[in-house]
Amino acid sequence: MPEPPVPGNCLTRVLVHTPAHSQMAGALSYWSEAPLPPGTLVRVPLGQRELLGVVWSIDSTSASDATLDPAKLRPVTTVLDAMPPLSAHWRDLIRFAASYYQRAAGEVALAALPPQLRDMSSVQLERRLKKLATATAKRTQAVVKPATETDTAPTPEPDAATPAVVLTQEQHQAISQFHQQPGPFLLFGATGSGKTEVFMHCTAALLASKPEAQALVMVPEINLTPQLEARFKARFCPLYGADAVVSMHSGMSPAQRLNNWLAAHSGAARVVLGTRMAVFASMPQLQLIVVDEEHDPSYKSSEGARYSARDLAIYRGHLEGAKVMLGSATPSLESWHHSRPAEEGGRYLRLEMPSRIGRGQLPLVRRVDMNHQPKSCIISAPLLAAITQRIARGEQSMVFLNRRGYAPVLQCSDCDWKSECPHCSAYRVFHKIDRTLRCHHCGLSERVPRACPACGNPDITPLGRGTERLEEHLAELLAGVQRPDGQPVRIVRIDADTTRLKGALESQLAQVHTGEVDVLVGTQMIAKGHDFRRITLVAAVNPDNALFSSDFRAPERLFSLLMQAAGRAGRDETVTNQSEMWLQTFLPKHPLYEALKKHDYPAFAASQLKERQQAAMPPFSFQALIRSEARSQEAAQGFLTLASQAASSQSDTATLLTQITLYPAVPMSMARIANIERAQMLVESPSRTALQRFLSAWQGVLHSTRAHPECKGVIRWAIDVDPHNI
Ligand code: ADP
Ligand code: ZN
Ligand code: ZN
Repeated sequence: MPEPPVPGNCLTRVLVHTPAHSQMAGALSYWSEAPLPPGTLVRVPLGQRELLGVVWSIDSTSASDATLDPAKLRPVTTVLDAMPPLSAHWRDLIRFAASYYQRAAGEVALAALPPQLRDMSSVQLERRLKKLATATAKRTQAVVKPATETDTAPTPEPDAATPAVVLTQEQHQAISQFHQQPGPFLLFGATGSGKTEVFMHCTAALLASKPEAQALVMVPEINLTPQLEARFKARFCPLYGADAVVSMHSGMSPAQRLNNWLAAHSGAARVVLGTRMAVFASMPQLQLIVVDEEHDPSYKSSEGARYSARDLAIYRGHLEGAKVMLGSATPSLESWHHSRPAEEGGRYLRLEMPSRIGRGQLPLVRRVDMNHQPKSCIISAPLLAAITQRIARGEQSMVFLNRRGYAPVLQCSDCDWKSECPHCSAYRVFHKIDRTLRCHHCGLSERVPRACPACGNPDITPLGRGTERLEEHLAELLAGVQRPDGQPVRIVRIDADTTRLKGALESQLAQVHTGEVDVLVGTQMIAKGHDFRRITLVAAVNPDNALFSSDFRAPERLFSLLMQAAGRAGRDETVTNQSEMWLQTFLPKHPLYEALKKHDYPAFAASQLKERQQAAMPPFSFQALIRSEARSQEAAQGFLTLASQAASSQSDTATLLTQITLYPAVPMSMARIANIERAQMLVESPSRTALQRFLSAWQGVLHSTRAHPECKGVIRWAIDVDPHNI
């Protein structure tokens, strides 16, 4: 074996993915023969394993290093120097995200890199990068001398939105504000007001301003990427080449993901479209970040580092000097509040586009008072008549359930038996397709029993109304109805079950688009984003349950869901004037529905913000949740209670407590999953800074509390900063 060079040549601090709460949460020390620039990817030994890591710093001045025995340091195994190092901005973003969301920087950094990178050699990387560079070079030539037909990049099919559009007055104004002001911007535009068009214009302007400029465009759901990708490709590939627009989301193959990530990192990609994970994309020349549907809860991660991609986008824009534009028809109350007039303390610039493109009007909102309908009525007579009328006219209807609380649970008609999950505080759900009872939390799946397990009664039936039952029910109700061509009514259901297979959603959506479908039934999944041109009726079967939720954000979500759903109706100018949104409700006079009827988001937001202010809720206060999991509810809560007591007895946390409220530990609303008990504690402060200081100081206390013998039953704990579900 060759002698290793003298240890300590170059002390290198490397971030690796260590368990979130291990003692090694910081960067680890190694030595390397030559100084490695921070941001370089390396592979390093850790115990018996070899891990991918990022060189974090090369200084050796920090206190802990003084205690390091240089002879014990191990060398960096591989340097992936074929790839340019990750930028200082990128590292700052990781550092910030880790500290703000109270996680280890290594976890955040490594989760932000494509998994395939872990197994690649420098040579393989080099080959990939070369391929990308060749493609870029070709594309640059093509753009420089567009006169030659042969080497112009192949252009994808242009869609309806290719440059020919003449901007509306509102779009024009929004874009000129964007150019004149630094931002961040909140583009508050009705559904169909042409927001995407504005995003594309702003992107085009920035890309044209600098040969390397890059733009990041985020959408909440993978499902929404294909439509958007088609529009962006049609616009930008002819200008910058076929590889200039790439996507980044969890639905891609590992190879695709690596390739697109490298394209962004090397600058080959000029536009990156992605879901929340894309906020960490390495983009050395980032000039613009767009966050479409910025209110959408899926921008907030619900595991690992529970970051909000929307909030990080704002921070990243600030860090990199990139402009940031958030867009929504129903902004989050946080963003709405931030975009109040500057004189009142607003920090974002609100750009308004209230009108829909063309003559398009928003649909008429009709409320059916369910108090006057027969008990257990699912589709009221007036709604059924309205749907029947659409069918006769050859128009389409969309009927949806907001799924929460509507999964079909099996119930015995004789005794009290319900299909409870033995391991969770939840009911198992009846899946007709394979006649199973499945727990949506722990996955436990069993065949449906022939008879009630408690009393033997063979008559066990679904309780509640899943989309499957709704579809069946509608089929029964519409059995005698005919389409204008004399054919029977065609109903299609779109939900998580029908779209599990790859390509299923696309083909179902295509059916809707080509008009093969008369009635579309589904979950809220169908209410979002899709551009259905021939739908003239949208119905929410029972939206009320969100109004009784213990979650203070539930009304905000319901309003935005219903507004979006309403926006699905009448997108085609020829049918827009007859389009309607139907709500079946027991609370027809509820202010939320009143505001909805007027399509008046500002009124709804004002009333909600007033309530939030009175109750000192976000955005007027700042929150964090600490969650713990244990074998028993006592242990889970006990840990939180001990940690809370310790906070007031230890000096570094106690001094901060004047600005902090620590609430008592309580069971989570899903108190038990797979036999693990879950508890939580709310931490609140009127000051974000105070909350941050407290949480960082409290981390140590939590670690030491967990080590107490009393807390032996605790399995894990985590902090959720700016939590969405309380
Ligand atoms: P939003 O994102 O606000 O829902 P889109 O940008 O998708 O709205 O625009 C809705 C429809 O109007 C799209 O089909 C789009 O191509 C079209 N559109 C947008 N801007 C214009 C315009 N200035 N003139 C004509 N059509 C437009
Ligand atoms: Zn029974
Ligand atoms: Zn379960």
